[in-house]
Amino acid sequence: MRGSRVAADTDDAEALRAVVGQLRTHLEMRGRSGLQGVGMGKSPRTQVAVAAVPVAAAEIEHEHEHEHVNEHEEEMAVASEKPRIGKQGLQVVRDDLGDCKRCKLAPSRTNLVYGVGNPDADLVFVGEAPGADEDAQGEPFVGKAGQLLTKMIEAMGYSRSDVYICNVLKCRPPGNRNPEPDEIAQCEPFLRRQVELLQPKIILAMGRFAMQALLGSTEPLGRLRGQVHRYNDVPVVVTYHPAYLLRNLPDKAKAWADLCLAQSVLREQA
Ligand code: URA
Repeated sequence: MRGSRVAADTDDAEALRAVVGQLRTHLEMRGRSGLQGVGMGKSPRTQVAVAAVPVAAAEIEHEHEHEHVNEHEEEMAVASEKPRIGKQGLQVVRDDLGDCKRCKLAPSRTNLVYGVGNPDADLVFVGEAPGADEDAQGEPFVGKAGQLLTKMIEAMGYSRSDVYICNVLKCRPPGNRNPEPDEIAQCEPFLRRQVELLQPKIILAMGRFAMQALLGSTEPLGRLRGQVHRYNDVPVVVTYHPAYLLRNLPDKAKAWADLCLAQSVLREQA
């Protein structure tokens, strides 16, 4: 009985959140088109406490032990969990994207690459844009960079299905060129709605374009590493893009330090 009431409340909250998100995207799009009186301000993107990375750099392939949680701790964890949103809200946003033709990437894409993973994830990874493999398969991070990302996720003690993975752009830029500002502007409201629905405990912004889209900063990526930032109140840690790490192997140790920082943020919220 209690369970079904909780489920109904969750469904209502989810439906409401989805409608609010739809309305917000609509208003933002109108605002961007220059229509008067409909713009909505973004939540402030503020940097918060600078946390020193307490963990020595180690290999990405490092193994982790799961901590034993006794029954009482499990009950406490359930009581303090965020409300579970489920798949429905994310599907509403996907439906809103539809056969998207909002920007100039539409004609050359094969598949729109929305996002994949656990709709109740605590941990969300945001990359730049689909590459050739992702465009062909319709799933983010399935190529070589994706294989490294999978290792990074596993090194943190998770599997790909535990976390949620998406990109700033949902469509592949031709020839893997950099995303352009107008493309980011069209796609970012959908990323924002994904994050609002997911309510993760931490976002890993991978690479310069994820960092810029989430934090609105044009600083070099290296300068924003090692700190906990905020995107609409969600903590964000910046790290190198896996494709960059494939070309710059020594920086894997720095990426591992970033993952450790993200883990410490997760632990603080447990
Ligand atoms: N690079 C990205 O930024 N995203 C992908 O999905 C694949 C490669």
